Amino acid sequence: MKLNIVCIPGDGIGPEVVAEAKKVLNAVADKYGHEMSFTDILMGGASIDACGEPLTDEAIATAKAADAVLMGSIGGNTSTSPWYKLPSHLRPEAGLLKLRKALNLFANLRPANLYEELKEACPLRDDIIGDGFDMMIMRELTGGLYFGERSTKEVDGVMTAVDTLTYNEDEIRRIAIKGFDIAMKRRKKVTSVDKANVLDSSRLWRKVVEEVAKDYPEVTLEHMLVDNCAMQLVKNPRQFDVILTENMFGDILSDEASKVTGSIGMLASASLNDTKFGLYEPSGGSAPDIAGMGIANPIATILSAAMMLRYSFDLDAEADAIEKAVKKVLEENYRTIDIMPQEEDKKATVTQIGTAKMGDLIAERI
Ligand code: NAD
Repeated sequence: MKLNIVCIPGDGIGPEVVAEAKKVLNAVADKYGHEMSFTDILMGGASIDACGEPLTDEAIATAKAADAVLMGSIGGNTSTSPWYKLPSHLRPEAGLLKLRKALNLFANLRPANLYEELKEACPLRDDIIGDGFDMMIMRELTGGLYFGERSTKEVDGVMTAVDTLTYNEDEIRRIAIKGFDIAMKRRKKVTSVDKANVLDSSRLWRKVVEEVAKDYPEVTLEHMLVDNCAMQLVKNPRQFDVILTENMFGDILSDEASKVTGSIGMLASASLNDTKFGLYEPSGGSAPDIAGMGIANPIATILSAAMMLRYSFDLDAEADAIEKAVKKVLEENYRTIDIMPQEEDKKATVTQIGTAKMGDLIAERI
């Protein structure tokens, strides 16, 4: 298969971790006989420095022409970097928002899984963790409360603020279809999260999700209220496969779920539109505090590349190969600094390595 991949190395540790993901993708291409081409574009601070804006129209056109986009991360130290003295539409993050909009990326996927080998990083009790958990949070990204009309004004002498939460059935249907499609590639269970006991938008959400479910008879659907879901994530995370939810609920629940897994350096993410196209990136930021030191964990970006193979290219065996290689390296007790055990006696049982070595070891195990 010919894959035309656009890469956005970005800022901070971005270029370091993207280089390792490319290394692993090249190993996959060699092993499985694919032809992968990589084209880099600038975004964020790197683009501000070179072009005077966080994302140029030419860069957007290049991204649009690709089969998928693999990103590192963008941004700098928000207190000290000169990028943050610029007006907000010229700051690094404006580039990412512009790209998401240009590519119509309405579905955000964040896996939260716990590796047996990294159990000690999880704040939950052993009896709750069991043999680990593996869920996918599917969040609607372009509608709901964050995009509704808002205002703040004085009403009868009292300052009053209004935010509106709007969803139409088409917006709900397209994210629900994505959620069920993803569930078909996993353990075939969807937990749709809403607040249907109070909100009209949630009642419509529930109705449309039930309609979509009829086309997926193999998938088990359950509904859960968002307050209960927040509790269940720490009480029994093993019950979840795909959590399907709207924008604000997903924002909060995905952060909660990522926290219970331990390290940010392990968490991949994907943002998809209604074709197979997607933007794949680690959940963390550009980590300016460790940029250039060669110690960043590249695994989140490497796992994002695996998501790209699975969801944009339907290359499940190749994606499995990357995920297995990551697991193997962890089983062999190699760790970057962020996933080192905290206790002194346990430190002696593992080998601390840097970014490039981690990429090498994973690529070798494909
Ligand atoms: P951050 O995620 O960059 O860093 C938080 C902490 O996690 C730091 O101590 C960092 O060293 C560590 N960390 C993050 N990724 C790591 C990795 N792969 N390996 C090892 N350690 C890792 O969050 P922040 O400090 O709040 O933000 C820094 C910059 O990143 C800001 O400019 C912010 O706007 C930007 N940011 C960008 C994105 C994105 O590009 N999508 C997302 C979040 C934050």
